[in-house]
Amino acid sequence: MIPSSKEIVELILKGSVIEAQEKIMEIRETAVRMQEDNLKLRQQIKVLEGEIAFRGKVVWEQPYYWVEDKGERTGPYCQMCYDKDGKFMRLQGGENGTWQCKSCRNSFFDNNYRELRIAPSDEDWRI
Ligand SMILES: [Zn+2]
Repeated sequence: MIPSSKEIVELILKGSVIEAQEKIMEIRETAVRMQEDNLKLRQQIKVLEGEIAFRGKVVWEQPYYWVEDKGERTGPYCQMCYDKDGKFMRLQGGENGTWQCKSCRNSFFDNNYRELRIAPSDEDWRI
């Protein structure tokens, strides 16, 4: 509880100057603590505002995410990792529409995916 000015005035009127000084110190310490807390909260707000602005650039395009900023596109990023942990893990591969996440080990198939059918060659029949 922060000492009130009334409390301090009463102490001075009683002649308890040292006690009044202690109460004033208490107020000063509280003010410093509040300034520090205020600074921390302002920094947190900045970080969160940055995250909100960034999330506005995230584009869902089944089965993965892209990040679009000033006409530039990066990605694709793993849907599982972003939805679960808010982390952007770049997907690897892309050949034949197949992508892998090195973090959660999931595989994703986009519209370019075609099932590979390997025609049996003559060598397959050798024993
Ligand atoms: Zn992942």
